Amino acid sequence: MTHAAPPKRDFIRELVAEDVATGRFHRAPATRFPPEPNGYLHIGHAKSILLNFGIAREFDGRCNLRFDDTNPATEDMRYVESIQEDVRWLGFEWDGLFFASDYFEKLYEIAELLVKKGKAYVDSQSEEEIRTNRGTVTTPGVDSPYRNRSVDENLDLLRRMRAGEFPDGAHVLRAKIDMAHPNMIMRDTLLMRIRHFDHYRRGDTWPIYPLYDFAHGLSDAFEGITRSLCTLEFKDNREIYEWLVNEAGFENPPTQIEFARLELDYTVLSKRKLLRLVNEGFVSGWDDPRMPTIAGLRRRGVTPEGLRNFAEAIGVARKPARTELATFEHYVRDDLNMRVPRVMCVVNPLKVVLTNYPEGEGEQLEASYYPHDVPLTGSRPVPFSRELYIEREDFMENPPKKFFRLAPGREVRLRYGYFITCTDVVKDSAGEIEELRCTYDPATRGGDAPDGRKVQGTIHWVSARHALDAELRLYDKLFTVPNPDDLPEGQEFTDVLNPNSLVVVPNAKIEPSVGADPVGSRYQFERTGYFMTDPVDSREGRPVFNRTVTLRDTWAKLKGQPG
Ligand code: ATP
Ligand code: MG
Repeated sequence: MTHAAPPKRDFIRELVAEDVATGRFHRAPATRFPPEPNGYLHIGHAKSILLNFGIAREFDGRCNLRFDDTNPATEDMRYVESIQEDVRWLGFEWDGLFFASDYFEKLYEIAELLVKKGKAYVDSQSEEEIRTNRGTVTTPGVDSPYRNRSVDENLDLLRRMRAGEFPDGAHVLRAKIDMAHPNMIMRDTLLMRIRHFDHYRRGDTWPIYPLYDFAHGLSDAFEGITRSLCTLEFKDNREIYEWLVNEAGFENPPTQIEFARLELDYTVLSKRKLLRLVNEGFVSGWDDPRMPTIAGLRRRGVTPEGLRNFAEAIGVARKPARTELATFEHYVRDDLNMRVPRVMCVVNPLKVVLTNYPEGEGEQLEASYYPHDVPLTGSRPVPFSRELYIEREDFMENPPKKFFRLAPGREVRLRYGYFITCTDVVKDSAGEIEELRCTYDPATRGGDAPDGRKVQGTIHWVSARHALDAELRLYDKLFTVPNPDDLPEGQEFTDVLNPNSLVVVPNAKIEPSVGADPVGSRYQFERTGYFMTDPVDSREGRPVFNRTVTLRDTWAKLKGQPG
């Protein structure tokens, strides 16, 4: 329903357009989204998905989903499945589905090729020695004593590595480049290491694992990718990327382009850190609605459109920048505003008795689901009766000047209903307000007085007898500081978790119309916020609602301010 702005022409799309115009790659633009299946996808991945799949769509190209599963210790099939679900939920379908772990044989062949060309060697230094001998940014590294092994010796060792003859760490395969190279990554880059480990797809059949640099660019090349889009941390890896695809003999090989990753305030976007939140019990799981994971956002009620609009709006740039949480919420809200029905839910109920409404009687009021500025129509009947609930906050016994809602002697409008006037306040023995006595004006049915008299406030309500009990889960920022990745020494991200990131309202009262809706339905609770029924914990007759986002839009306000 909402109109997403056409994707912006960022510097990457400019390059791809140029590729198409010049025919540089002699093939249609091809991209890939290459997650490691070591966790659930997060909102940062959504940015990458939109970019890669978006380019393929816009330029009539292809986009593959490739699992970069070359680290046997951390990967799992459940992550493979969740990642596919999340990509599809975002609205994309891959042209090819690949696993780097299916390329082990091909990568091994290239390893042999490099050895035969004298471009790679087997190093038998310890991990420690390799690290020390790499040098530093200011000092050159030291050649390994094994650097000048003959091709035959290297080939023999490599074959025996593959045959599983050696224990972990006994040897590694390295590119033979330059131990004094100004780019540290080019100092005889590590290509393959021995790992006797159960890989989630290959079992223990394969004892040597390619490292990121060796696997990534060549996997791109196998798939005919043209532009390999990655985040800025990989800038220094571009040189080895190019070196490898060229040494391996690919014609018109893919090239790497880096862009700034999404960094969102008040959250962390690293699977490693998110995994800790899950494992250490700070959240209920990967799909906890407070998590910045796609699964968490989905469960919270965010729509794929809202997420896509956000990712498109922030665009793609070379320069790192942080994004305010309010920007994200703005796009989520903007999309929900245009598509979800409005219903009435009382969060903190206060009983109201209409003393002049006949006891035992009731009626149905027609309430529209959408305001006039939303291009959807529809309505539902809302039961009205002598006893109602209103929000406790909508009543004040001694109101200040600017309080326009209910107070003793004051008249307000019940949304879609009648004008009511408060006549009495009933208190319990402790002096707490127990209920209000009010009168209603039968002539104001539908919300207007025939005599033209005005009221200053309109409040929402539910009929006490008809309302359903509901649990509300109100979410707030997961962290108390904007950047939990950048903390003073001695503090870590788990120290700055927001203790109030989840507030449970056990007994809200909601109008009965929602009882017939399927789980996963989204609403605006009038004057309260956007909510979705929780698909996991909702029970028949006892729905649980997750607050997706509040109604207030601080970001739009800020943007509207002059200067
Ligand atoms: P994490 O630290 O969360 O594990 P990662 O980069 O290691 O992130 P991968 O699964 O390897 O995660 O990433 C898959 C793709 O998603 C990569 O191309 C990566 O550049 C991209 N990506 C990851 N995080 C972000 C982010 N915050 N913003 C944009 N793209 C991202
Ligand atoms: Mg990673």
